[in-house]
Amino acid sequence: MVKSLIAKSLNQALEALDNHSYQIVAGGTDMLIQNRSHTGMPIGYKQDIIYINLIDELNYIKEDKENIYIGANTRLETILESDITPKILKDVILEMASPAIRHTATLAGNIGNASPAGDSLVVLYLLDCKLEIKSINNTRTVFLKDFITGVRKIALNNNELITKLIIPKTNFTNIYFRKVGPRLSDAISKLSFAGGYLIENNQIKDLRIALGAVYITIIRSREIEKEFIGITVDELVENKEKLIKAYEPLIKPIDDQRSNRNYRKKVALNLIKEFISKIEEA
Ligand SMILES: Cc1cc2nc3c(=O)[nH]c(=O)nc-3n(C[C@H](O)[C@H](O)[C@H](O)COP(=O)(O)OP(=O)(O)OC[C@H]3O[C@@H](n4cnc5c(N)ncnc54)[C@H](O)[C@@H]3O)c2cc1C
Repeated sequence: MVKSLIAKSLNQALEALDNHSYQIVAGGTDMLIQNRSHTGMPIGYKQDIIYINLIDELNYIKEDKENIYIGANTRLETILESDITPKILKDVILEMASPAIRHTATLAGNIGNASPAGDSLVVLYLLDCKLEIKSINNTRTVFLKDFITGVRKIALNNNELITKLIIPKTNFTNIYFRKVGPRLSDAISKLSFAGGYLIENNQIKDLRIALGAVYITIIRSREIEKEFIGITVDELVENKEKLIKAYEPLIKPIDDQRSNRNYRKKVALNLIKEFISKIEEA
């Protein structure tokens, strides 16, 4: 039988992780599904578990001049209700699961699960999110894009916890988020898109595009973005096809029960086109 530990403080959790190998459980909304029993028996965890969602020190959302800081245990619904939360993050959370799930699930759990279809990831990549990772003797900060290394693969040692999300503030002129799913809520994405831009004096000062569920990790290419920053809106519109073509080879979706690769690729390219049209119309 597996053992479980309910950690009440960060220090207790980090000491426990340093001394023993545990599966971390926060809201448990992914873990319960992945370990569910199909025979009506209770959930069958394969490893001892440490439940961290009662650690209050990790439940907050705050800001300073440069960044927004979200404690790893902050529930999606709390983030949704906060005045500090950027609009595009609210847009994505509103389309995640249902209120009941959002009252227990966390962003750290969506990150820890590292599914290419994890909805918050596309927006967190767009916002250049960083993570604070702690072990009993060390604290490190890593970009989310470097933390997720593949499908369900993360760069986390056994004795470490994600403790904080650090989201740099942006001053986008406009943002755009689209989740393509079979219905409006409680649905896993077929694919998703997040974009943001800043225009000053008719010049593109910032341009970011992220795509979810069309590759093993979220797609975001700073190289492509750089090529189109610094030009005028008219020049961007003139070069729309060039921009779309630049993303084409990066988009390598799979066929699965939710959709197929042709549909995903076509819609992903259409969403880039739609995003550029929004800039044109602005
Ligand atoms: C009905 C239903 C609907 C859903 N709908 C959506 C949806 O629309 N979009 C979507 O993206 N997801 C959806 N999900 C999946 C899930 O709710 C999210 O991924 C959620 O954000 C997971 O958070 P959690 O706190 O429950 O994670 P948990 O299940 O507790 O953990 C998930 C993973 O993250 C790790 N982890 C958690 N916290 C930490 C930490 N602090 N440090 C290190 N590792 C950690 C765990 O070890 C585990 O591997 C849905 C799930 C259900 C059951």
